[in-house]
Amino acid sequence: MLPPPIPRIVTTSWDDGDPCDLRVAELLRARDLPGTFYFPFIGYDGRQTLTYDHLKSFVREGFEVGGHGMSHNVLPPLRSKEIAREVGNCKKRLEDILGEPIRMFSYSLGHYSGSVVRYLKEAGYLGGRTNRMLGRKLDFSPYEMPTTLQAPPLKIRRQLPKRSSVRRSHAAADLFRAGHVRRELGGTGEGAL
Ligand SMILES: [Zn+2]
Repeated sequence: MLPPPIPRIVTTSWDDGDPCDLRVAELLRARDLPGTFYFPFIGYDGRQTLTYDHLKSFVREGFEVGGHGMSHNVLPPLRSKEIAREVGNCKKRLEDILGEPIRMFSYSLGHYSGSVVRYLKEAGYLGGRTNRMLGRKLDFSPYEMPTTLQAPPLKIRRQLPKRSSVRRSHAAADLFRAGHVRRELGGTGEGAL
């Protein structure tokens, strides 16, 4: 008798809190796919971001919201106090707005350092997503989570698996605890949106 098939778990992630994420959420919803939306309080290059009400509606629908810094600054060159403020205040403010724990962080432009990771841990994040691509194994540090694939939203549509072939996992952090996970498919990363 054959062993039961190993379930595939898929998660996607979307940086920068761009208003286009509303459309992304629509596409994910239609396919019953999970998504983690990483939100900076000041948008990338000063761009407009989603409103807090949008973020609240994402959470109500079962999507995950993660931190992407207060100002979208690249963190490693900053002084310790500034790094602590970028990651810590971002988490606290999002938690105040959304009323639930913020567990994940995405590094601005994918840059991080040992010091940045230390502040993430101190702030209480469970993990950090990098921009590293082609990750296919699960033996990575939770604070150096790679992606498998990064692609512009219009192109990724054709690559999304069919609804019946995936098991929903709405929290990226769940991947770290799921010993039976066979493959993880990351969504778009920094600059891909
Ligand atoms: Zn970004």
